[in-house]
Amino acid sequence: MPPPHSTHPSSPLPPRSRLLQSLGSCSRGAVTSAASSPSPSPPGWPRPLRYAVLGAGFAGLSVAWHLLKQSPKYSRVSVDVYDENGVGGGASGVSGGLLHPYSPKAKLLWRGGEFWKESMDLLRSAEKANGIAGSDGDGRDDEALIWRRGILRPPTTEKAADILLENAQSCLQSCSLQVLDSDAAQRLIPGLRVPLNLAIYMPLALNINPKKYLQALFLACQNMAKETSVSPSELKEFSLYNKHIDNLQQLSGDYDAVIICLGGKASSLPELTNKLPLRTCRGVIAEFKLPSDTAEKYGSQSPSILSDAWLAFQGPCTVSVGSTWQWKSDNHDPSVSDEEARTAMEELLPKASAVYPGISKWDYVRARAGIRAMPPLTANGSLPLLGCLNDVIGERSNCAFWLVGGLGARGLLYHGLAGKLTAKAVISSDENMIPSEFTCWKAIKASR
Ligand SMILES: Cc1cc2nc3c(=O)[nH]c(=O)nc-3n(C[C@H](O)[C@H](O)[C@H](O)COP(=O)(O)OP(=O)(O)OC[C@H]3O[C@@H](n4cnc5c(N)ncnc54)[C@H](O)[C@@H]3O)c2cc1C
Repeated sequence: MPPPHSTHPSSPLPPRSRLLQSLGSCSRGAVTSAASSPSPSPPGWPRPLRYAVLGAGFAGLSVAWHLLKQSPKYSRVSVDVYDENGVGGGASGVSGGLLHPYSPKAKLLWRGGEFWKESMDLLRSAEKANGIAGSDGDGRDDEALIWRRGILRPPTTEKAADILLENAQSCLQSCSLQVLDSDAAQRLIPGLRVPLNLAIYMPLALNINPKKYLQALFLACQNMAKETSVSPSELKEFSLYNKHIDNLQQLSGDYDAVIICLGGKASSLPELTNKLPLRTCRGVIAEFKLPSDTAEKYGSQSPSILSDAWLAFQGPCTVSVGSTWQWKSDNHDPSVSDEEARTAMEELLPKASAVYPGISKWDYVRARAGIRAMPPLTANGSLPLLGCLNDVIGERSNCAFWLVGGLGARGLLYHGLAGKLTAKAVISSDENMIPSEFTCWKAIKASR
């Protein structure tokens, strides 16, 4: 049988060993990988298309999943993910995990239906992989992957109540909104304060365990690589390298495409410094537990709460309260000093108590923090920044550089569609696969 038609650029790339050498002690044995056969191509077969994904957060793993899933049948593809902190070591791993397609004013976000559908598809794949691996948390509620308890949004000002009521008129069927009065809201959450006799209920909104979800999505990528590697002509490789990437140049000779998914650190690559319209914003989340001798636990079906602060309940005795907004912070440390935790609590607790006074009975356990990469506000909202970066960085090699950045405060909602659109564009080497609303930041930036 003749080898299939090769789709990669005609000039051969230097062997990947050069890159691995330049990464110092990085050896393939020290990484996690999945494939049905080793890398070198059998004689006569084209080498695989090589993709590097920088970052193993929501963005990076979504891109990796979609590259593996959407690469054409009978293709040979290798996806290498690089992350200095491993899976979920950035903002994704510390995030609050709240997922719904609405603004804080209950307005359906631009393309909210598509974003919602794509994130549900990814969640399903991750849940399936988690189930196969037998990591369902032994039925322990606080070890779940997804808490399907909905979210309740009680407004605290007349103005907010009017806007919420108006916006709630149009909603997605797949994530509906219900208008509740105090009695109905308090039946769902005993002890809830409903100052204006109104609360918007999103029964299908979710609370995700972000670390567990990312680990499951990583497993799903590994499984996909194994399942679709059925013959030498149909080979999918997937590897994770726990390595810091200093610059893009070190990768360009070894890959057909490099997709940058570095969250709040994308601009720290020398080739991208001062070239991305992103602002960093650190957020602190405080975790609380109900003392074990407390008789009244939080209801297993009671929703999480979204107000001036949010309360994401993970089980009958566990809640995360967030989040602060420290603009322009360059503190990427996920750990939180006592001083920073105290300041965060002074800000968050009064806001949480305004709608859920019972929080005073919960004990503070610890705080965690992450950096959001905030994109500019556009007529369609604050959208992720996608697209090919070769014109931005002036790169003239056979390697194409792509960005999935600026997921802001909605990484869970945005990562599915952002990863899917980008993977399609990367595979077809065609930026036009991405709607211009996600790529126009480049034109705006250039015109400034
Ligand atoms: C406090 C807080 C609460 C949040 N709550 C929610 C929420 O409830 N719901 C929601 O949808 N979103 C929430 N978000 C937003 C969400 O976390 C982000 O939108 C999302 O995590 C961005 O994902 P990412 O993959 O782009 O970035 P990240 O998750 O930050 O991933 C980037 C990865 O790149 C790695 N990396 C960086 N530089 C390098 C380098 N040079 N070499 C190698 N690796 C590198 C990092 O280790 C990291 O793992 C929250 C954010 C914060 C900070």
